[in-house]
Amino acid sequence: MTKKKAIKPMHWAFMDAPRCGAKTRKGTPCKSPAMKNGRCRMHGGASTGAPKGNKNAFKHGRYSAEAADQRRAVRELIRASNRQMKEY
Ligand SMILES: [Zn+2]
Repeated sequence: MTKKKAIKPMHWAFMDAPRCGAKTRKGTPCKSPAMKNGRCRMHGGASTGAPKGNKNAFKHGRYSAEAADQRRAVRELIRASNRQMKEY
């Protein structure tokens, strides 16, 4: 006699995600994986977009936030140095 083993269902990362609480036409909660706004893709309107700092699509960094900050700093430095030069 062998005891039947419970089959462990597959476990995916989205199963741990917070659930959508919208009420379905059946009256039960929706239970689809929720976005940051607490609603799933069907009930929460537009997606909240790609996460900030996504490195999956990274190619060269020309448009990254860090690069923009750096360019701003360099621009400030040039302006400051031009101001200095005018004084002499
Ligand atoms: Zn939903």
